[in-house]
Amino acid sequence: MSAALPRIGFIGLGSMGSGMAANLLKAGFPLTVTDLRREAAVALLEAGAHWADSAAAVASATDAVITMLPTPRHVSDAVNGADGILAGIADGGTWIDMSTSVPDVQQAVAEAHPQRALHLLDAPVSGMSVGAASGNLQIFIGGDSVDVERLRPVFEAMGDPERILHVGGHGAGYAVKLMINQLWFSHLVATAEVLATGTAAGVDLGVLRRALLASPAASNFLENDVLSILEHGDYDEGFAIALACKDLGLSIDLSRANGVPVELSSLVEQIYRRARASYGDRAGEMSPFQLYEDLLGRKLRLETGGPR
Ligand code: NAD
Repeated sequence: MSAALPRIGFIGLGSMGSGMAANLLKAGFPLTVTDLRREAAVALLEAGAHWADSAAAVASATDAVITMLPTPRHVSDAVNGADGILAGIADGGTWIDMSTSVPDVQQAVAEAHPQRALHLLDAPVSGMSVGAASGNLQIFIGGDSVDVERLRPVFEAMGDPERILHVGGHGAGYAVKLMINQLWFSHLVATAEVLATGTAAGVDLGVLRRALLASPAASNFLENDVLSILEHGDYDEGFAIALACKDLGLSIDLSRANGVPVELSSLVEQIYRRARASYGDRAGEMSPFQLYEDLLGRKLRLETGGPR
């Protein structure tokens, strides 16, 4: 059965890519992988993936190449470098970038090599490293519908079929993903401010949260995501704040490029940068919450068995 499936190449086996690649393998896709850190591939190689020494070697050994890399610069290195994807991919080949990024790198490739007729898709994801490991990612795809349909089984190996969305032409996937993150980071900062102020004013944290949830100000963040901090003191180190700051910067670049003033988003970016400076690049994406806990001089935690 697997002989009929396209051979997939995967470049970038970090918090997200390792789980996504493992799920492609589980679904039966012949898989070739690479990463700057060979140790990141150990479990995949044991499970049957092949190793290649460069992005070019991955591309020449496969029918479709996926990149899952930190920033546009890393994506550009993996594509345009001496041993990059462009040096190995066949004319008419497929490259799917699943990184949270901007269209510039793919656009430049398409403009510089029109005769190579490459099939390019942007397909960034939501769902954290947990969703990557469980194969339940939400995927936002920009590109041609024929390519999206052809590659749907590949996406379904990594994501929740109900939440694999073709959101428009090239670049639309990147834009949707950046807007989701921008709004989520804004929710986090707004929620931290409100919980810090309300509790400083003497209201019990559980009571305050329940009152907010029963009000028109309720949000999914307050109902679900904030519990990782309030119940477990977990600021989600699976997604480093350095990458969150990268996303906020790209989101603001996007607004600038499209002539939309975003005062609130800019402030949220600065608060994130302050948290990164305070707690380090590898602190979790939710660590701006800690800025407010530091101000209060105590952690915001729900008591076990208390009101939720
Ligand atoms: P990560 O830093 O954990 O992993 C990135 C991997 O890429 C590393 O293993 C690194 O060695 C490798 N790498 C870098 N440059 C390379 C190159 N030129 N060739 C080969 N390998 C290279 O990052 P991550 O958390 O997995 O995030 C990847 C992307 O997914 C980012 O764009 C991020 O914004 C996005 N994202 C992350 C999460 C999350 O929760 N971590 C969620 C959604 C989206």
